Amino acid sequence: MEIGLLPQTSEPYDVIIIGGGPAGATAALYTARAGFRTLVVDKGLTAGALGMASKIVNYPGIQEPISGSDLVRRIRDQAASFGAEFVTDKVLRVSLRDEPKQVWGGRGVYRGRVVVIATGAMGRTRRIPGEERLLGRGVSYCATCDGPFFSGKEVAVVGNNDEAVEEALTLTRFATRVHLLSPTAELQSSPELTEEVTAHPQVSLHLATRVREILGEERVEGVRIASRGEERILPVAGVFVYLQGNVPVTDFLGDQLPVEEGGCLVVDENFQTPIPGVFAIGDVLCRHLKQAVVAAADGVRAAMAIDRYLSGRGKLRPDWS
Ligand SMILES: Cc1cc2nc3c(=O)[nH]c(=O)nc-3n(C[C@H](O)[C@H](O)[C@H](O)COP(=O)(O)OP(=O)(O)OC[C@H]3O[C@@H](n4cnc5c(N)ncnc54)[C@H](O)[C@@H]3O)c2cc1C
Repeated sequence: MEIGLLPQTSEPYDVIIIGGGPAGATAALYTARAGFRTLVVDKGLTAGALGMASKIVNYPGIQEPISGSDLVRRIRDQAASFGAEFVTDKVLRVSLRDEPKQVWGGRGVYRGRVVVIATGAMGRTRRIPGEERLLGRGVSYCATCDGPFFSGKEVAVVGNNDEAVEEALTLTRFATRVHLLSPTAELQSSPELTEEVTAHPQVSLHLATRVREILGEERVEGVRIASRGEERILPVAGVFVYLQGNVPVTDFLGDQLPVEEGGCLVVDENFQTPIPGVFAIGDVLCRHLKQAVVAAADGVRAAMAIDRYLSGRGKLRPDWS
């Protein structure tokens, strides 16, 4: 079930899961089935590793080839059938030591007694030349937050997945023209979003296009792009970047949780982080084999621990406290 904006006065959820890939959606399936009010906040069906995989043939029980996004959708539907709620939103920051814990997305604030981090490993360390230098001066990662600054201007969105396309569509409310720069020859977004963005009169779609450099002295003035061996400069006032890599996605945590070398979150045998009631599962962990079934299994094991934590049975304390 997809929900709308949450009023801040609504009762806190028992469990908020950030990320609805195989890890998060499976955890939701188990916590919802155990009777815990569960919310999954996810930024887009094809924004995660499994969601963007074109064909999966090694997920137990599913013999016919299935796209990653169909597999994720099936797990989510199963979780929703047990009462888990899903909201499409990008988590921007969290406050994990508050009780209840708070999670801020572009669409609202969500509050829960337990938070599970299941955001996978699609982050990047390699930046586009100029990206870091002009961050906050025309470079952004959030259209909802920064879109209004670009009213009446032209902007570029870099990426090809659900998140990039949704952000491009959001930006059409402010910018006169949105240049969607996809590194691949086809967009990887869902068919509905692809159709909407392709037909949008304010969006110029640039396929198989790489951004070589973000240009500007004090502020973004343009991007140098390359397509089919030819380079040119596109004058834009803003650049919104949604590219994927393979670094754990933890940017929205600030420095609230320790990370291992490689940027992975640290958990104990119950998948609990050093903050009680905060769990992490799936590809955000380093000692984790990057396979969908393993991520799903993490979700099950964490859900069992969450059950014990919330019902006060065999109180869980982090190993290091
Ligand atoms: C191209 C490719 C092919 C693969 N093929 C296979 C295969 O054949 N078999 C196999 O078993 N495994 C495969 N894998 C590996 C598998 O997809 C991953 O191990 C698995 O998806 C990890 O699950 P996860 O739930 O931890 O993360 P993900 O699947 O990455 O899910 C993370 C979720 O978090 C969400 N998210 C991230 N940041 C935020 C935020 N700030 N706010 C809200 N939501 C957020 C994303 O939208 C996403 O839905 C493949 C991976 C890739 C990249």
